[in-house]
Amino acid sequence: MSARVMDGAAVAARIRGAVAEDVARLSGHGVVPRLEVVLVGDDPASRVYVAAKGKAAHEVGIRAATHALPAATTAEELRELIVQLNCNGDVDGILLQLPLPSHLNSRAFLDLVDPAKDVDGFHPLNVGLLHQGRPSFVPCTPAGIMELLDAEGVGLSGRRAVVLGRSEIVGKPMAALLLARHATVTVCHSRTADLAGVCRQADVLVAAIGKAALVSAEFVKPGAVVVDVGINRVEDPGLVARLYPGDEGRRGQVAKRGYTLVGDVDFTAVREVAAAITPVPGGVGPLTIAGLLRNTVRAARRRRGME
Ligand code: NAD
Repeated sequence: MSARVMDGAAVAARIRGAVAEDVARLSGHGVVPRLEVVLVGDDPASRVYVAAKGKAAHEVGIRAATHALPAATTAEELRELIVQLNCNGDVDGILLQLPLPSHLNSRAFLDLVDPAKDVDGFHPLNVGLLHQGRPSFVPCTPAGIMELLDAEGVGLSGRRAVVLGRSEIVGKPMAALLLARHATVTVCHSRTADLAGVCRQADVLVAAIGKAALVSAEFVKPGAVVVDVGINRVEDPGLVARLYPGDEGRRGQVAKRGYTLVGDVDFTAVREVAAAITPVPGGVGPLTIAGLLRNTVRAARRRRGME
């Protein structure tokens, strides 16, 4: 059996289309949503993500600006910027790109963002609301995954879901959303005993651990739906050839730019067991950005009492 490949990019394109229509409607009321992205330091992956978010925002008509601060930015300087953006009535959404340099405590700065402008859904108020089953701003990656599962007609009520990874960004909010939809949810992490055995119970398996191809076929129940959140750089041509035999495109990427991106799931092997699977790239990544755009428009509407 070869699993159906779930097209996250297509679902994301649909969401972006709907957001663009929302933005056009808001413009008719004289409102153009505005997103401010704060980037500290020069992490290359963060730069790529921030550029992609800015481009996607512009494409749907959202005004987006990036504050690129040097890695040596002090806590006081970052605090000042966030407070300034909180106070600026023209700003709808604030996104603090993670990770921050090690001398800056991410949690302290996420706590500082106005919850009404918290388009990433990381402020404790929004986290609490999500876990109470009355979501406000839902973190973009898990929100996008729920849209994908719905678009693919994946039933959740009464089914077993296993979330691999317990981060604040993906694992925990993902578990809360699946629970709210009446799945029976298990969260696994680096200290889970018999990881493969627990994962094998899942009707829906979401992998978000940041370990290239760790989820092998033995983690997957035949007929399960597998969502691969991981984004991992693999530079070893031998490993790429083993994970993607015969994939000349990936081999070419490693030769040309030194790496290829792979997920947390061994796509080639798991595809033979699962009923449906997301690819990397082109699966969850585009949905994350679409979720951010949606949250930004939501913030713009709510702040003006339009929702
Ligand atoms: P994180 O490092 O914050 O958390 C990783 C989690 O995985 C932890 O809870 C840890 O306990 C668990 N873990 C680590 N190694 C494990 C192991 N060997 N066995 C079992 N559990 C293990 O990571 P994160 O921010 O949640 O991101 C996870 C992955 O998803 C990364 O590859 C990241 O790049 C990717 N990501 C992708 C998107 C997207 O849009 N596609 C968005 C966010 C994160």
